[in-house]
Amino acid sequence: MEKKMILGKRIEQWKNDYPLLNQLIETEEVFWTNPKHEKFDEAIRNISLTEKDVKDAEERLERFAPYIAKVFPETQEENGIIESKTVKIPQMKEYLEKEFDQKIVGDLLLKCDSHLAISGSIKARGGIYEVLKHAEDLAIEEGMLTTKDDYSILDSDSFRKFFSNYSVAVGSTGNLGLSIGIMSAKLGFKVFVHMSADAKKWKKDLLRSKGVTVVEYESDYSKAVEEGRKQSDLDPNSYFVDDENSKNLFLGYAVAASRLKKQLEELNVVVDEEHPLFVYLPCGVGGGPGGVAFGLKLVYKDHVHCFFAEPTHSPCMLIGCMTNTHDQVCVQDFGIDNVTAADGLAVGRASGFVGKTLEYLLSGDYTVDDDKLYILLKALADTEKIYLEPSALAGVAGVVDLFKTKLGEKYLEDKKLKDKMKNATHIAWATGGSMVPEEEMNKYYEKGANLSKK
Ligand SMILES: *Cc1c(COP(=O)(O)O)cnc(C)c1O
Repeated sequence: MEKKMILGKRIEQWKNDYPLLNQLIETEEVFWTNPKHEKFDEAIRNISLTEKDVKDAEERLERFAPYIAKVFPETQEENGIIESKTVKIPQMKEYLEKEFDQKIVGDLLLKCDSHLAISGSIKARGGIYEVLKHAEDLAIEEGMLTTKDDYSILDSDSFRKFFSNYSVAVGSTGNLGLSIGIMSAKLGFKVFVHMSADAKKWKKDLLRSKGVTVVEYESDYSKAVEEGRKQSDLDPNSYFVDDENSKNLFLGYAVAASRLKKQLEELNVVVDEEHPLFVYLPCGVGGGPGGVAFGLKLVYKDHVHCFFAEPTHSPCMLIGCMTNTHDQVCVQDFGIDNVTAADGLAVGRASGFVGKTLEYLLSGDYTVDDDKLYILLKALADTEKIYLEPSALAGVAGVVDLFKTKLGEKYLEDKKLKDKMKNATHIAWATGGSMVPEEEMNKYYEKGANLSKK
């Protein structure tokens, strides 16, 4: 280990340049703030994606809404718009304050992407959006569809037959595979989902029941993606959903921001100069939290502060951003194993595209121990009757860390936020959980109960 070179530097040199690596390598919990974080107007200059791109994605989802409402009846109430609730969780806040002996200033809310229709995770935003965009592109090119049509016509044998000439492929730790798989199969595509070793059996079973071909790997996410891409590239009619680089996925996620804005207005939550918003987003490869954060920055600019959350064993985005090497390094290079109960976040190499896009927009990134995820899972179930998968609890931990760590404290001081915190809103982004089978969820809960006793 000591002798190994990482991008031409020895590990000791890396630790010297970035002392936080010492704790990261020991898989200790850390809280990092981004020294490059800048004012929005400055930061946005370096980014090629714009508000117009997000708006375009939003409009595309509106075009598809009549189709979605028709083929997924659970979305009828929302007229085919796939959106989750935002709820206050005051009892959980009280629990956190007691449990961690830390006053939390401001309101605590939960964004329940855990309960998004169709696939029960944040991937129902980006994943489904990307499949819809691809389907639209193909159908328009074929002359079967125009953007003026009522898209419920896609629910027909002629469209399904057309799409069956094409396939969609993706590599996933589980939830992206679910979203891409369910949506693509519904449209009529042939689908290949390449699953990493972390992927749960129930997700593979569910996909197979929908006619999806599931290919299993004994290695981690990066391998599943690599193999999936290789196989897809052999077939000119196959479309590979590139989780690491896809702008479409990113834009699908970004649409969340304008929807959240409406919800906060309905809840009478003010976000402005005097009322800062803090958002804590569980991060795997980065597309989900990155897209949401990008959308939020466009909407709220300097009034929103976005923090990513990663497992202590998979801090790929933190290391990539801190060392400015992005996807050139993986956690394994530093001897970190990428083994975590947070299967949705079990990613060793972050998206370079996302890291670079958010280079000046991201406020920070922190890591969470697996045991704490289970303890928080049980606590949220007890206090608010909301059941999440372990990954999704990573967001909840951040609100404590912001106040409890030196760097969190310093962030609030540097940004002159201290006096404003009494007006602050904190949103933990709950990224998945509603589709976890009851039996599995009971096991998670039991584990949390046992760990809470210690
Ligand atoms: C995928 C996933 C995330 C993170 O999304 P990325 O795009 O991989 O960063 C967070 N939570 C859950 C439950 C997920 O499935």
